[in-house]
Amino acid sequence: MGRDQEITGTAQREQGRNAQSNNIYAAKLVGDLVRTTLGPKGMDKLLVDAAGEITVTNDGVTILEETAITHPIGRMMVSIASMQEKEVGDGTTTAVILAAELLSEAQKLLEQGVHPTQIISGFQSAHIHTQQKLREYAHTVDANDAHTLTRVAQTAMTGKAADTTKQHLSLLVVNALKKTSVVQVLEKQGAPIEASVCIQGVVLDKQRVHARMPKQVTDAKILLLDTPIELRESEYNAKVSVQSPTQIEEFLRLEEAMLQDVVKKIVRTGATVVCAQKGIDDVAAYHLAKAGILCIRRVKKSDLELLSKATGAQISSSVEDMQSEHLGSAKSVEERSIQDEEYVFFEGCAHEEVATIVLRANTKHLVEEIKRAVTDAIGDVRAVLEKRAVVGGAGAIEQRLSRAVLDFAQTRSGKEQLAIRAFARALEVVPRTLAENAGLDTLEVLASQRASSLQWPGIGVDTHIIDSWQEGIIEPVRVKQLAFESAVHVANMILRIDDVIVSQQISEE
Ligand code: ADP
Ligand code: MG
Repeated sequence: MGRDQEITGTAQREQGRNAQSNNIYAAKLVGDLVRTTLGPKGMDKLLVDAAGEITVTNDGVTILEETAITHPIGRMMVSIASMQEKEVGDGTTTAVILAAELLSEAQKLLEQGVHPTQIISGFQSAHIHTQQKLREYAHTVDANDAHTLTRVAQTAMTGKAADTTKQHLSLLVVNALKKTSVVQVLEKQGAPIEASVCIQGVVLDKQRVHARMPKQVTDAKILLLDTPIELRESEYNAKVSVQSPTQIEEFLRLEEAMLQDVVKKIVRTGATVVCAQKGIDDVAAYHLAKAGILCIRRVKKSDLELLSKATGAQISSSVEDMQSEHLGSAKSVEERSIQDEEYVFFEGCAHEEVATIVLRANTKHLVEEIKRAVTDAIGDVRAVLEKRAVVGGAGAIEQRLSRAVLDFAQTRSGKEQLAIRAFARALEVVPRTLAENAGLDTLEVLASQRASSLQWPGIGVDTHIIDSWQEGIIEPVRVKQLAFESAVHVANMILRIDDVIVSQQISEE
C-alpha cells in the first residue's frame, strides 16, 4: 500500500497524485478496450456473458456496457458512451478514446508540475474554440438531399457487419426517415440481408390469435391492453379444490361466463382490433373471433407504447378501464407475409407516422450486429435532418480542428497554452487510431495529413490521404459536437478528483 493510501474506518482511501494517476490509468484502459474497433478496419470483439451467451460486435457502447467494469472511473468512462448512445447513437468509440487521450495528455502535464485546475481551464477554452470552429467548418444539407443523407448512413455502417450491404440498407434508412422521424427496427433471422425491407407503418412480428379472426380490418378501432384476457392463476388456485365432476363442470361454466363477460365489455367499446401485452385465453379468443375482432397477444411493452404513439390509443390497464375514447385508429390492420413470415401491419395510423425496417440476416448474431449498425445510421441521418449540418469524416474534421486549436494556443501563454496544445494533440487520436487500425505507418500518415492542402484530408485505408468529401465519408455535426462535449466533460471530471474513498463492499451472501 502506497504512502498516499490509508484505511479510513471501513473505507479504503486513496489520495493526491497517486489517486489521480490510478484514475487516469483506469480511464486509459477503458479507451484501450475499444480503440481497435474504430473505423472501417476496426476489429470486432467477441463477448461472452455469465450465461455463456455470445455477442460479436464492433460497437463501442455494446462492448463497454457488456463488459463488467467495476472500477468507478471505468464506469464513468462507460457512462459517456451510454450518454452518447442515448443522445445520437453513433460516435461512442470516438467519445471514449478522445476522453482517454485527453487524460493521457493531462498526465504528461501533471508530471511537468502543471496543476489540474490549469489543465481543466485550458481544456475548457480549447473546447469552446473547437465547438465554434466545428460550426464554422460545417456544410449545410438540405432535407431533400437524398444523396448526402445516403452517404451519411453508409459512413455510419462502414466497418460493421453491415458494410457489404450498406448500399441497400442506407436506402432503407433514408426512405424510412423521409416521411417520419419515428423509425422502428424489427430484426428477424433466417433470410439474407438483401431481403430487408422498409414499410410505412408499425409492423409486429406476430400472428392473429385465432384462425377465425379476420385477416384484415379497415378503419380499425384499436384497443391496447396491458392486462391479460384470462382468469388469473390465483383465481384458479382458489377455486380448483373441487371434489366431484359436477363441481368441475360448474367451475368451467363459471369461468366461461366470466370470460364471455370480458369479451362483451370489449365489444361494447367498439374495438375491432385488440393488442394485449399479456395472454388471451383460448375460450376468450374463440368468442372474440366470433365477434369479428382481430386480436394479437403477448405484444412487447415497447411495441404497445409505439402503437399508442402511432394510433393515439391509450393503454388500458384493466377490463373496467376500457372505454371507447381510449381506442386508437388506423386505416388498415392486416396480417400478411413477407418472404413466408407472417406479420401484422398497422398502416395509415391516425396519430403519428411510423416507419418500420424489417431487418433480415441469416443468423441471430449477424442480425443483432446489423441492427446496431442500422440503428447508428438512423441516429446519424436523423441528426442531419434535425441540424442540417455535416462534416467530412475519416479523421478529417478532427485534423482540421486540431490545427485550429494549435493556432488558438498561440494567442495564449504559459501553462494555459500548454494545456490548449495538449488538447490539440488529443484531437489527433481519431486520425491516428484510424491509421493504426488500417495498419498504416502512423507517424508518416499523420505528417502527410497535417501538411495536406485538401479541405477534408481523411485517412484512407488504401491510399493514405483521401478527400473525405469526395469519397462520401460524411458525418453529422451533431455526433461530433456531443462526442467532444462528453469526452471533455468526463476528462475534466476525472482530473478534478484527487481523493477516492471506497466503502467496504457489503458481502452479497
Ligand atoms: P464510433 O463509435 O465513434 O462511431 P466507428 O467504429 O463507427 O466509431 O468509427 C467511426 C470513424 O470511422 C469516424 O471517424 C469515421 O469518419 C470513420 N470512417 C467511416 N468510414 C470511413 C472510411 N471509409 N474510411 C476512413 N474512415 C472512415
Ligand atoms: Mg460509428
